[in-house]
Amino acid sequence: MSFAELGLTKPLVNAAAAQQYDQPTPVQMGAIPAVLKGKDVLGIAQTGSGKTAAYALPLLDRAQTNRAFRNRYVKVLVLVPTRELALQVGEVFLSFSRHIPIQIKTLAVFGGVSINPQMKRLSGTDILVATPGRLLDLVESKAVHLADVETLVLDEADKMLNLGFEEEMRQILALLPKKRQNLLFSATLDNQVRAIQETLLHAPEVVEV
Ligand code: AMP
Repeated sequence: MSFAELGLTKPLVNAAAAQQYDQPTPVQMGAIPAVLKGKDVLGIAQTGSGKTAAYALPLLDRAQTNRAFRNRYVKVLVLVPTRELALQVGEVFLSFSRHIPIQIKTLAVFGGVSINPQMKRLSGTDILVATPGRLLDLVESKAVHLADVETLVLDEADKMLNLGFEEEMRQILALLPKKRQNLLFSATLDNQVRAIQETLLHAPEVVEV
């Protein structure tokens, strides 16, 4: 199975090839066609499985023909538990975006550093990768507009819950439009993740690797 056979268009197939990805990993095989169709996804996959590209490639593919990507607001929100993951996921979106014909702005925001530079850089961000606490701080400062979010990704949801971010996650969910695509990735499916899954996902494609 190739990336093209999963339904990705040429620019994203090229983006994968530029990273020396010869063929899709199992989580990518399961998730990419579903994300392209706009479906919700539950991905049970460890770090190292290729889960980031499993959502980044199809989301960027859809962005190419999505007129909303001409507005100035956040369309894709990726919540992650740590600064390290925020930076890493931001880099993945950035490297793939270079291959698509429209301009996409990705920004990673996280706590533990000064908030002002992040506030200044937020304007015009299409894809926002954020840790929950810092995102809420930015919302409180009215620096970020979440009413146009079309897709929410919860990456490493189990870790986010283990770090005690459940309340922050719920507060963020309440700020998003009700009609949206939800992608939930977790290394484990414990009761806490199951509870989030039940409130969040509608008829999800389940990908377990
Ligand atoms: P992740 O699970 O998203 O943290 O990805 C783990 C590592 O696998 C990263 O270094 C990716 O660049 C790499 N990777 C992702 N997809 C593929 C693929 N299809 N072929 C080879 N390497 C990949």
